[in-house]
Amino acid sequence: MKENRKKILVYFIYTLIVFFIFGFLTWLGRYDIFRQFITKIENSSFDLRQAIISKYKTPNKDIVIIDVDDASYEYIMDKVGTWPISRLAWANTVNAIEYVNPKFIIFDMLFLKPNLYDVQSDNAFAYSVAQFNNVYLSMNFDNYSDTVRKSVDLNEKFRLNVAGGALADNEYISFANVRTIMPQLMNVTKNVGSINITRDDDGVIRNVTPVFRYKNNYYPNLTLLVGLRYLQDDSVLIKNNTIVLDNSHIIPLDKTKRAILNWYHKEENNQYIYKHVPFWQVVNAMLTSDLKFLKDNFSDKIIYIGTTATSLNDIKTTPVDTNMAGVEIHATFLNNIIDNNFIKRASSKVDFIVSIILSLIVGYFVLKTTSVVKSFIILVAMLLLYLLVATYSMHLFNIWISIVIPVLSIIMTFIFVYSEKYLLKARDYEQTYKLAVTDGLTQLYNHRYFQEQMIIQVDNFKRYGNKFSLILIDIDFFKKFNDTYGHQSGDAVLKQVANILKKNVRTSDIACRYGGEEMSIILTNTAKKEAVVTANKICIAVRSHKFEVANGNKVNVTISVGVSTVNVDGNTPQEMIEYADKCLYKAKESGRNQVVYKV
Ligand code: GH3
Ligand code: MG
Ligand code: MG
Repeated sequence: MKENRKKILVYFIYTLIVFFIFGFLTWLGRYDIFRQFITKIENSSFDLRQAIISKYKTPNKDIVIIDVDDASYEYIMDKVGTWPISRLAWANTVNAIEYVNPKFIIFDMLFLKPNLYDVQSDNAFAYSVAQFNNVYLSMNFDNYSDTVRKSVDLNEKFRLNVAGGALADNEYISFANVRTIMPQLMNVTKNVGSINITRDDDGVIRNVTPVFRYKNNYYPNLTLLVGLRYLQDDSVLIKNNTIVLDNSHIIPLDKTKRAILNWYHKEENNQYIYKHVPFWQVVNAMLTSDLKFLKDNFSDKIIYIGTTATSLNDIKTTPVDTNMAGVEIHATFLNNIIDNNFIKRASSKVDFIVSIILSLIVGYFVLKTTSVVKSFIILVAMLLLYLLVATYSMHLFNIWISIVIPVLSIIMTFIFVYSEKYLLKARDYEQTYKLAVTDGLTQLYNHRYFQEQMIIQVDNFKRYGNKFSLILIDIDFFKKFNDTYGHQSGDAVLKQVANILKKNVRTSDIACRYGGEEMSIILTNTAKKEAVVTANKICIAVRSHKFEVANGNKVNVTISVGVSTVNVDGNTPQEMIEYADKCLYKAKESGRNQVVYKV
């Protein structure tokens, strides 16, 4: 019964601990600095998982990047002398590539103001764009005030086509101004989308914004626009925090209405994830009419045109690369749309439930197992298993379940439950020890403890010269007392005498039940003279005490007392006890109810 109650108490405390930990974490969660800290580590754990699982994901081979790289920049500087180059060059590029039938040509660069000194080239480019409806252009939202740049109204044709009309809420990432492209281009195409990129607090790009809000209307990310067209669709459905492109292509949005990208593997020795064709090679192929080069590289391909030249400064940090060309991020976004494999963040409810379950399991095992090593192995195994599960959920189901909070709560549970176990054990040990050295009736130390202490005291005297004295007490005519008042009254007297002893000695003194109705006191650091004073004090206290016995009667009891002191009366426990006993005998002889310290 008692064991059972103890068990219930242990599990009750353990449950309290787990709830305390979650309460504590929830409370900490109210502080920005804690949340930011957790987010930072969680993001790093995401990056690590991505670095591992991206190895198993092959990028789409149809995506090709025409790249104004460092070499192309040199080439352009050498041939033309300025950047940006004349839009005639882009007109020619579009015309040449369109000749070999690409799927898309997507410009990840901004064609801003018209060049007033070269209107013909601008017009030629606009003319090319007008010819082909698979050419896509970029714009860029920002928040400049109207004083810096007047915010223009965008033509309706650029809005995102949302089935069922307006979007449900206003939480979509919102901008106050826009860098549009030159009017010649705006007039001839509706294939224009935003190339805004958003970084996390740590500067890493993990997600993209599919939909932007500008002047109360919604505009697509450039790549979302291309993705829709790739799926031969022209409108999206927005529901339950997802953007539905078609039945099998859905973009889940996180709390900030961004889509978390799933990154692809960059092959060994490759600088990029996707195939890059340097722009200078394209120009060279055009100048030498190398149709084979154009066909091999661009027929049926999705072509992004962007810059990687260091001087053009479009280099970003992502989970899988600290040096990624911005254009590769757009390409990854499109690849995610095509593969329908965006990362979905598990809700905080799921994280919470997972954490509680894991903590309860770990705590339970810690309580169950007796060995420290085993508990520790269970903890480590549990952590590793969880990390494995978290990595595999991302690999197999594209789900990002949190690692930091569950791991933190597992470790905290381990520490607290382990401490609980240890403390309870220590308390058990203390209780057992106390029982082993205490006399049940009088609550004085028992005979065994008395003997141990005598040995210790003698040793202490020999080593350090610490004096001590011994008092032996025997109740007078106790047999008769028992006969007269009964054994129970005798027991009551024993208890009360014991209390008188406790009250009349210092905390450093050791009062014991020597046996039967005999008691002893070891007085540490006490010479004969003081010991006799104490002995007399006790003798008088007992003599003047009214003892309550069974039928409510009050009776008097006396004691006889013998005293011995180390070095003076004996040098071993044996000798000291013998001497005190002799004194005691002498006290009895001399009429009882007195102290004797000399024989
Ligand atoms: P005196 O010491 O004065 O010579 O006489 P006495 O009658 O006290 O003699 P002794 O010390 O030899 O007697 C011991 C008696 O103490 C025997 C027993 O009846 C009683 N006694 C011993 N232990 C207990 C106990 O635990 N409870 C009770 N009630 N009596 C006890
Ligand atoms: Mg006796
Ligand atoms: Mg006696």
